[in-house]
Amino acid sequence: VAQAILPNEALWEMDRAHSLHPWTNFGPFEDKGSLVITKGQGCYLWDASGRRYLDAVGGMWCTNVGLGRKDMAQAIADQAERLAYANYFVDVTNDPAARLAAKIAELAPGDLNRVHFTTGGSTAVDTAVRMVSFYHRAKGNPTKTGIVAREASYHGSTYLTQSVGKRNGDRIDEFDYKSEGIWHLASPNCYRRPSHMTEEQFCDDLVAEFEALIAREGADRIGGFIAEPIQASGGIVIPPKDYLRRMWQVCQKHDILFIADEVVTAFGRLGHWFASLDEFGVQPDIITSAKGLTSGYVPLGALIFSDRIWDVMAKGGHRWFTSGLTYSGHPVACAAGLKNIEIIESEGLLEHTRKVGDYFQSRMGELSALPLVGDVRGRKLMLCVESVANRETKAVLPDEANESKRISDICEDMGLLVRPLGHLNVMSPPLVITESEIDFAAEVLEK
Ligand code: PLP
Repeated sequence: VAQAILPNEALWEMDRAHSLHPWTNFGPFEDKGSLVITKGQGCYLWDASGRRYLDAVGGMWCTNVGLGRKDMAQAIADQAERLAYANYFVDVTNDPAARLAAKIAELAPGDLNRVHFTTGGSTAVDTAVRMVSFYHRAKGNPTKTGIVAREASYHGSTYLTQSVGKRNGDRIDEFDYKSEGIWHLASPNCYRRPSHMTEEQFCDDLVAEFEALIAREGADRIGGFIAEPIQASGGIVIPPKDYLRRMWQVCQKHDILFIADEVVTAFGRLGHWFASLDEFGVQPDIITSAKGLTSGYVPLGALIFSDRIWDVMAKGGHRWFTSGLTYSGHPVACAAGLKNIEIIESEGLLEHTRKVGDYFQSRMGELSALPLVGDVRGRKLMLCVESVANRETKAVLPDEANESKRISDICEDMGLLVRPLGHLNVMSPPLVITESEIDFAAEVLEK
């Protein structure tokens, strides 16, 4: 029986009385109390009062094939009816999970032929970090368990992944995050690099910092390096040319596993199935993915790792790889993943993204003429508009200016959803976005 949709205010009251949202702001803020989403179609969302919004953020970087698709809904419904759940531990599998693992292995670069399903990005990264230890122990290097990450990175919000990530503002809750065996290098942020350095010198500096850390701490204590190919929530940080390849070469020299966190960049966002090799020339040992894998229709994550890692773990490890979740290899989620990949293939969404992504960059690039805008940067369908108080000094506006809230509220009133993170307005629209929808978003932002 269809439930009547309550008005915005009634739903909002209910929500405020009972829900703690991710990243809830308990500080002083103006409780606008209006946005209750009830419907999605393509790049658009509707609220309970029937107002339509263009979603420039793609949900949370995830609604790649667009919302409201009958083909996705049908694949999910069919699978739920046929087999909604089955145990996937140890020696049981199911039809969609087996097929999706094979399909991912076919699409993933090089010898990344092994797939471990999780429930999302955090659980994929969490497992990847633990796999690093498992692998090196199996190889006879029991101390090679440390992880090198970067400032401004976001890898998830479990205890371990939030310890590995280090985005400004994520660590303000006084929680005792794990710090032993985790090191953070500088973010490869070209816009905020020291002013006396060229991009090349900056790159040399970043690589030298990694080498110095290895020399100081010892390669026998460092097992993995984790990097988002483009730091996403950290502000769409496009690394200097060759940075990722050079960091990968350092990893290879010291038997450090390279984990590419492609939770955002995989499954089309940069016009490739995976960005590491095709966009940056790096062959990772492990790729973590989620989001675009099912375009947000149902939760699913996966880590994809090399045959080489598998062989070492199989030969020399403990008998059990004790990592898994009740919903690992969930049949409905995997059926959604298969249909999602089929749609990206059959509708040519990688090619579309490469084309429309360039338009997105150039059209939004026009915003850099505005006095409030310090930098507009991105690649394909990932973009950041960075606000500054002063374009010379690149100083940000004071907290009291509350520009992110003001920008998002005004855009919302004009039918555009953006969710700036402080002074960083990051956008990642669905891959199906059109040039006229991009024009609309740029016009609203300009106003
Ligand atoms: N890794 C990256 C690069 C992400 O951007 C995110 C989420 O935004 C995660 C991991 C965590 O994924 P999830 O929220 O699905 O746990």
